[in-house]
Amino acid sequence: MTEPPHGVGAYRNPFSRHEDVRQGVRDLCTRYPDAYWRRIDREQAYPEEFVKALTGAGWLAALIPEEYGGSGMGVTEASVILEEVNRSGGNSGACHAQMYIMGTLLRHGSEKQKRSYLPKIASGELRLQSFGVTEPNTGTDTTKLRTTAVRKGDRYVVNGQKVFISRVQHSDLMTLLVRTTPLDQVKKKSEGMSVLLVDLRDAIGRGITVRPIRTMMNHETNELFIDDLEVPAENLIGEEGKGFRYILDGMNAERILIAAECVGDGYWFVERATAYAKERIVFDRPIGRNQGVQFPIARAYVNIEAANLMRFHAAELFDAGKPCGAEANMSKLLAADASWEAANAAIQSHGGFGFATEYDIERKFRETRLYQVAPISTNLILSYVAEHVLGLPRSY
Ligand SMILES: Cc1cc2nc3c(=O)[nH]c(=O)nc-3n(C[C@H](O)[C@H](O)[C@H](O)COP(=O)(O)OP(=O)(O)OC[C@H]3O[C@@H](n4cnc5c(N)ncnc54)[C@H](O)[C@@H]3O)c2cc1C
Repeated sequence: MTEPPHGVGAYRNPFSRHEDVRQGVRDLCTRYPDAYWRRIDREQAYPEEFVKALTGAGWLAALIPEEYGGSGMGVTEASVILEEVNRSGGNSGACHAQMYIMGTLLRHGSEKQKRSYLPKIASGELRLQSFGVTEPNTGTDTTKLRTTAVRKGDRYVVNGQKVFISRVQHSDLMTLLVRTTPLDQVKKKSEGMSVLLVDLRDAIGRGITVRPIRTMMNHETNELFIDDLEVPAENLIGEEGKGFRYILDGMNAERILIAAECVGDGYWFVERATAYAKERIVFDRPIGRNQGVQFPIARAYVNIEAANLMRFHAAELFDAGKPCGAEANMSKLLAADASWEAANAAIQSHGGFGFATEYDIERKFRETRLYQVAPISTNLILSYVAEHVLGLPRSY
């Protein structure tokens, strides 16, 4: 039997597909070992060299069609790329958004916008790593967002506030969801919002003030104060008033890609926990001989495998152009739960050493915790399934 890529037990995962993609990303990731991510975490720095290398090798342009300079892969392969980054001990959170944000531009942007931005994003000349949706006062209730854009001649004038907007300091461009028609003037609350492509190089200091938010893990995220920001009207993506739908369109890809990162984290935790449980001798035997130690690791592994199946199922539906809202959401929930379970199993089986930074467990533990909350919280996924899959009454 062939050993699985990362040697978890003797079982070869039949879903260990796209080996060429896996191997390529894995080779690149070996240049950024634990010590690299540990230092970046300690310094709360941005993994600049890693992101440059990933971009330079073309992996971040996986979803950009070949005619615009990308490799035209599907979400399945893109998810394998991010899985491998996390599986190597790294953190895709520094750059994953480029993959799913770009979809808004690709699917709804004009030909002119695509020609001017996508090749530069593919080559790394421009970074589109930021998207501004969440607001401090409205949270998950996105349609109530209060940031407004008013058309004045050939510009939009934007005012409002956003919170938890990631990678702004390391991105050139940001997609920004704004209200262009007041809520009381639209038939449906999902109408009247628009997506603007904001050039952060012009906007920061000239309409956007950035206040960094320090978080429990190393993740560059910010509060944005927007005062009379002028955005050229030609930077409107798609039609005015339809922006919420464009953002929703991108969410299935986002869910699947994050699920894959969680799967990568989950395998990483299981591998580390398994290796440690074999090595650590207490009471004259490896701790992994105790069922109390091995069962939580084994259960976490079982759940990661199950989540992985749902992730590939959702990705394949997405790539086939079939509806996959339920599957994408379910894969995100299952994978986030599985990686969190594996994180707990790993920290527990490492005993006190799980808390020592040099073992990296506590770092990944902090990183993977995010996915119970962002980009969509577990409760909201359950509400989606209850309402849209089971036909239960809408609860909010
Ligand atoms: C590190 C980080 C990075 C982020 N990056 C970005 C980014 O780049 N761009 C961006 O736009 N956003 C970003 N976010 C925001 C993220 O998407 C939101 O935090 C998330 O969607 C939850 O919204 P909220 O924080 O306003 O929580 P709230 O909406 O205030 O919810 C708080 C809690 O209440 C629960 N809840 C709310 N309503 C209901 C209900 N009806 N039923 C059951 N439970 C409910 C939620 O599940 C949640 O647990 C980021 C967040 C973090 C922490």
